[in-house]
Amino acid sequence: MVARLDEKLEPIFQDVLHRNPGESEFHQAVHEVLETLGPVLTKYPNLVDSKIIQRICEPERQIIFRVPWQDDKGEIHINRAFRVEFNSALGPYKGGMRFHPSVYLGIIKFLGFEQIFKNALTGMPIGGGKGGSDFCPKGKSDNEIMRFCQSLMTELYRHLGEYTDVPAGDIGVGQRELGYMFGQYKRITNRYESGVLTGKGLGWGGSRARTEATGYGTVYFVQEMLKARNDSLDGKTVVVSGSGNVAIYAMEKAMQFGAKIIACSDSSGILVDEAGIDLQLVKRIKEVERRRISTYADEKPGSRYVKAGNLWSVPCDVALPCATQNELNGSDAKTLIENGCIAVAEGANMPCTTEAAQMFQAADIAYGPGKAANAGGVATSALEMQQNASRDSWTFEHTEQRLEDIMINIHRNCFETAAEFGSPGNYVVGANITGFLKVARAMDAMGLI
Ligand code: GLU
Repeated sequence: MVARLDEKLEPIFQDVLHRNPGESEFHQAVHEVLETLGPVLTKYPNLVDSKIIQRICEPERQIIFRVPWQDDKGEIHINRAFRVEFNSALGPYKGGMRFHPSVYLGIIKFLGFEQIFKNALTGMPIGGGKGGSDFCPKGKSDNEIMRFCQSLMTELYRHLGEYTDVPAGDIGVGQRELGYMFGQYKRITNRYESGVLTGKGLGWGGSRARTEATGYGTVYFVQEMLKARNDSLDGKTVVVSGSGNVAIYAMEKAMQFGAKIIACSDSSGILVDEAGIDLQLVKRIKEVERRRISTYADEKPGSRYVKAGNLWSVPCDVALPCATQNELNGSDAKTLIENGCIAVAEGANMPCTTEAAQMFQAADIAYGPGKAANAGGVATSALEMQQNASRDSWTFEHTEQRLEDIMINIHRNCFETAAEFGSPGNYVVGANITGFLKVARAMDAMGLI
């Protein structure tokens, strides 16, 4: 069930398929944006002649490199790493690094492509990029992680800089990994260039509220979508997929807004606690003890961990996919709709399949696509860059207030743009067009780039 493209856009998409064979996630991300751009080309025909869309679909630069490293037993391993510098019309390339065995060029390109529009939506001066490696951090010792990160940065450093390309974290990359990368960058360049990475530790240039930002931002976005429908999160039941950084802080903010979290998950199964998830226990298990979420059920009576269970079959008012791409498909969407779900917001990048996303829109569910709903993370990265540039450090309250203002603004822009282009309430249309026009106008002003 893939929507047809405007006749001016179909050949552009065919060209993307032809030039990027086998990269299905990248195709999916491009198609999802092109689907919404028909009315934009009708309104601004000059964008057709200047081939802005074709230019945006082609990364400015793609770097692929070898990362050799040695494990604790002395055995040598070779991984492949990527940095796709997609678009720098609005600022230095900005986007996280993902360490996961599923990583290949198609995943990094889909993420980098989405990042262009997401970053534009934040209103901050950041371009779009993404990187990562097929390295699997699971079960590795701190020393192995350190050696891998040092080897990766030994190549990557030459492509970075606070005015050039500024990585951060993503799946499998948190403060520990960023610390090792920053240390190696500093050592090689002999520069304490705080603004070259974001998501840093608080003691060495990081920003307060960055850890919380993606999850908090997603929930601020949900609250705004519900407000637009004269509703709120108060008293709602919520399920959140994942149990990483995004999921944990989405749960925390939803609870602060009066919601009850009844389930979360990890890659092996789902955790259901109808009495309401005990977030302190989740934090201790995940952040302090680095254990699997299944161990929660051993400690909290009344909760259960279901191996290979389907999270989306747990009846809820609000669903927040915060784990990974394509984790929620058409049949999951059907179940959620039948169970009376009223809002879905993507804390992860592209967690809903094309079919699921279209079903939510057709059922008039408040559906916040990742580009808008999870933009709080990268927006706070831009706030970290701002603090680094002025050698300042803001309070948690101030930083969180800035994050909330940014999310309210993103919601308003998406809402108004969707209405302007004839799709009121459709945040996919609103997010894609708002982000696209910002980037297109900047590129246009800079000549043929
Ligand atoms: N990886 C996050 C994202 O998908 C954050 C990127 C950043 O902070 O640069 O937006």
